[in-house]
Amino acid sequence: MKFGGTSVADIDRIRNAARHVKRESAAGHEVAVVVSAMAGVTNQLVALCETAGKERHVYDRREYDAVVATGEQVTAGLMAIALQDLGIKARSWQGWQLPILTSAAHGAARIADIDGAALIRHFKDKEVPVIAGFQGVHKETGRVTTLGRGGSDTSAVAIAAAIRAERCDIYTDVDGVYTSDPRVVPRAKRLDKVAFEEMLELASLGAKVMQVRSVELGMVHNVRIFVRSSFDAPDSIDPHGNPPGTLICDEGEIMEQQTVTGIAFSRDEAQISIRQVQDKPGVAAAIFGPLAAANINVDMIVQNVSADGKTTDLTFTVPAADYQRSLDTIKKAKEAIGYQRLDGATDVAKISVIGIGMRSHAGVAAEAFRALAERAINIRAITTSEIKFSLLIDAAYTELAVRTLHSLYGLDQAAP
Ligand code: ASP
Ligand code: MG
Repeated sequence: MKFGGTSVADIDRIRNAARHVKRESAAGHEVAVVVSAMAGVTNQLVALCETAGKERHVYDRREYDAVVATGEQVTAGLMAIALQDLGIKARSWQGWQLPILTSAAHGAARIADIDGAALIRHFKDKEVPVIAGFQGVHKETGRVTTLGRGGSDTSAVAIAAAIRAERCDIYTDVDGVYTSDPRVVPRAKRLDKVAFEEMLELASLGAKVMQVRSVELGMVHNVRIFVRSSFDAPDSIDPHGNPPGTLICDEGEIMEQQTVTGIAFSRDEAQISIRQVQDKPGVAAAIFGPLAAANINVDMIVQNVSADGKTTDLTFTVPAADYQRSLDTIKKAKEAIGYQRLDGATDVAKISVIGIGMRSHAGVAAEAFRALAERAINIRAITTSEIKFSLLIDAAYTELAVRTLHSLYGLDQAAP
């Protein structure tokens, strides 16, 4: 049972979360609890580091970890107290105490193997372990590490995998994963089940329910992840029933597979077009090599076949935050690339249609093209993969496009 920041935002909520734990353990389930820092605390700790090291700007990441890991330490202790207050035996555990061994990449460490048997040996019989998420310890130096922002999801899934848990419940401030963002699509509905691969696409495309890495980890170790709300009254839920939420699982577990599962979108995109670039071997390398070296994540790439065998146009997208840096990088490499003109736009949005059913259905994208044409929405670029296609459009049409596609693929919730 993992509780996110908003689920442990204050003492009342911690006590409420403890009642969820009590319900499950009273029903005879063996549970391990993983907690995030109280909402906003990690941000405050990060800001403190930045202010303390403001002259040099790049402060020591080992000390950053020493500071930001404390948020989870506090919640783990408070949760153990709250559980004890309800008459449940509980004990808090820091990453280094178990230990959760990680790589040396301070601020973005990766979990090395967790010894599940050793963990279980630590956990005393009938005593609920409350583990501080987000943190670990470097296996050689013994220094405290953290797993990157949102990393307590990854802690929870890794621990669930190590102890072979039947399920990893992620308690959060929403009651599951939706077919699209309900703020933009009021008729979006909660998915009962979603396949790991689909969730990976949804998560990386801006459905901010879970850290992407945690979903990857769940897929690799086949950990069934259940996203549910901690705001549901703890005692109204039947611990043996089917509580509301979304199960992220292997596709084999999903009986009625729809062709399209969800529509994701992102407005934080920028488009860059390189006009009349030479059409010869090595040009793509000359463009994307420097961008990679500058740590810029290129997403869609569209290149045409030249008509005259000499020059062609090449378009790609980058995160809007990296737009200017990308232009500068390309300009610097102009000599090596050889092109006539550089264009760009930041008022673009990427709409993605996701569903593993697409593997076995033809013409899914064609339907979208027709529907958007009827709304006079122009498509700037298209990319496809096995279970997804993405369209780049003018940002002004984001909502219209998302709603149109949501209805087109039968995802709208029936009107109440
Ligand atoms: N407290 C950490 C953060 O805010 C980790 C987490 O909540 O998942 O990023
Ligand atoms: Mg989180």
